[in-house]
Amino acid sequence: MKVKVIGSGSMWNQYNSACYLIDNNIMVDFPNGACKYLYREDINSNIINHILITHFHGDHYFDLPFYILNKARSINKDVVIYCSKDGKKKINKLGLLAFPNSFKDACNSFNLRYNFNDEFKIEDYVVYKILVDHGRMKPAYGYVFEKNNKFVGFTGDTCLCDSVEEMAQQCNYLFCDCMFEFGTNKHQGINDIKYLANKYANCIFVVSHMENKTRELLNNLNLKNVIVPEDGIIIEI
Ligand SMILES: [Zn+2]
Ligand SMILES: [Zn+2]
Repeated sequence: MKVKVIGSGSMWNQYNSACYLIDNNIMVDFPNGACKYLYREDINSNIINHILITHFHGDHYFDLPFYILNKARSINKDVVIYCSKDGKKKINKLGLLAFPNSFKDACNSFNLRYNFNDEFKIEDYVVYKILVDHGRMKPAYGYVFEKNNKFVGFTGDTCLCDSVEEMAQQCNYLFCDCMFEFGTNKHQGINDIKYLANKYANCIFVVSHMENKTRELLNNLNLKNVIVPEDGIIIEI
């Protein structure tokens, strides 16, 4: 698996909002600014065929209308969006707000499907959708990819909860929320990452959704089995 960290920041800084491109084909979340950033990295978003949305805060899906309009002009016409059941309605509402005259036609011009299952296959991966705890935002999901007995997880936005511990226990790599210095009931903090990295020493934690201060502290801490990525880096697993 090749994971390109498209965004490692929170909404409130110069870094892109948290999202990842897997094997040049699968996106985990599609936040504000993702399409433009992909262009700047010489990647046309129309190569993406699978999009997993963790939850429906704007910094995780607001670029979908741009992606969908671009896809309508492409010859690569297969798209599956994996998300919670309310997702289709939310994405359509956003798309119609963004492009009232052309969004519907764009959606109808290619093969756009939705998948709300808790387990599904993408290429050679088996993917599990796991409910996490992101405060009042319900539902919020993480995803775990499995192939050849290797497990790679993405927590999405979450506080430290049993699901995150299950993912940490199972995964070789876990891309996870670490927004603050100290965790809250919505997001994890460095204190949570320290706890996880110590308890689940076989897992490599790739932190994301960071405020600038959190990034600076994490870079100074230099924790074993914790990667603090810059936007654009590629992690081969
Ligand atoms: Zn959120
Ligand atoms: Zn977020």
